[in-house]
Amino acid sequence: MVNKEEFWSDVKNELSKTMQAISYEVWIEKLEPVCFMDNVFVLSTISATSKKTIENRYLDQIREIVNNLNSFITDVEIIIQDQEEEYLKKQSISLPEKGLIIDGVSPVKPEKRAPFLEKYTFDTFVQGKSNEYALAAAKTVAENPGGKYNPLFIYSGVGLGKTHLLHAIGNFLAKNSPKTKVVYANSEKIVNDLIGVIRGNSNEQTNLFRERYRSCDVLMIDDVQFLSGKEATQEAFFHIFNDLYQSNKQIILTSDRAPKDLPTLEERLRTRFSWGLSVDIQPPDMETRVAILKMKASHEKFMLSDEVAEFIAENATTNIRDMEGLLNKIIFFSSLTNRPINTRELAYDALQDFIDEKKDTLDAGDIVSTVCKYFKITTADIFSKKKTKNIVEPRMIAIYLITELLSMPLVSIGQMFGGRDHTTVIHARDKISEEIKTNTRIKIVVADLKNMLLNR
Ligand code: ADP
Ligand code: MG
Repeated sequence: MVNKEEFWSDVKNELSKTMQAISYEVWIEKLEPVCFMDNVFVLSTISATSKKTIENRYLDQIREIVNNLNSFITDVEIIIQDQEEEYLKKQSISLPEKGLIIDGVSPVKPEKRAPFLEKYTFDTFVQGKSNEYALAAAKTVAENPGGKYNPLFIYSGVGLGKTHLLHAIGNFLAKNSPKTKVVYANSEKIVNDLIGVIRGNSNEQTNLFRERYRSCDVLMIDDVQFLSGKEATQEAFFHIFNDLYQSNKQIILTSDRAPKDLPTLEERLRTRFSWGLSVDIQPPDMETRVAILKMKASHEKFMLSDEVAEFIAENATTNIRDMEGLLNKIIFFSSLTNRPINTRELAYDALQDFIDEKKDTLDAGDIVSTVCKYFKITTADIFSKKKTKNIVEPRMIAIYLITELLSMPLVSIGQMFGGRDHTTVIHARDKISEEIKTNTRIKIVVADLKNMLLNR
């Protein structure tokens, strides 16, 4: 019997790790677990408005965590507290029995519904230079599974869209080829399933495990790097891989690095992973980041000005999930204060904690060395009296960034830069802030540098 309170507290614990603290407190803390209805976990909230907000913004996330924690539970429903009794009556469940009964935990029971999140489709995936090959490959595989790219191996840093693409393939197949049997699992889940099998130690369970993973047409394993060092799972997976591959079933894998860089993965798996096509996703450029933000905002029905989109995109460069976090924070602030957040200044207010936190750990030395690295010059040059353009420009930019990001006295900045006068510092600062308005190249350089500094 799964205890709903304990289960909910586990779910909350996971949610608190990924959500903004403030959103978590406002929307999640006040939810109460009601019951399990077949494969649905029912939660209640105080009002219709909060039900709507939670459904729009957080339901997918809650569902994903619930399903990861217990693969039996495939959906989550939010009801309003006042209507709880009525709801339960309608479902003819008596109050004391509001637990979920599972006979001997068998995590390998086939799932009723594939866990693909509706919002992750090809339509909601913004194409840019950084991801175009991965996107094209994912589309090809979705249209023709088991065809020329097998296995398809997608790798990138965190939060750059690997899971999104897997869900997009799943959603595409569910719509266009509903008979295709798709199994999606992250490798942690496979490991857990297998542990369940080993513990259960029955033939029936072992067969179920094999059947589940071998009887599919498309097998997706997300974050395959977690198989590293798990020999028993690798062994089981190796056989599943061979069976599927030989019968031309599509295998799609994602990882945080290329197959050759998965050192603790058995050699035979590593070679197999590179039999098909490996594609990477790079961090998106500024233009793609802004396009993604605009798309996400329009889904939330939030009017995002260019200015604020750029502001967010400057502050989060290497991880789209972080960037979405900042957007959510702004949307949340806007709804709390009931005012549109459409200028850089207001966005700065909304994200101040975040920006301050980043700044706290930054010092002038970091700024100078980052600028020098960026322009491929030495620190001796930047502090020198040299007046050539390739030194003067980085010097002015470094000074500008120090005045903008740190609260260092102008005199000290002058001293740091070879004993220059504070008026020279002011001149450099004002010159660059003017240039940013008119010179696109400088604007991009400064944005890049800020990103590098604030996203270390
Ligand atoms: P990963 O699996 O690589 O860690 P995810 O697929 O979970 O990353 O992506 C993190 C977030 O970024 C998701 O909300 C996803 O929708 C979003 N995202 C990533 N790339 C894009 C893109 N090109 N267009 C739209 N959203 C994206
Ligand atoms: Mg992922």
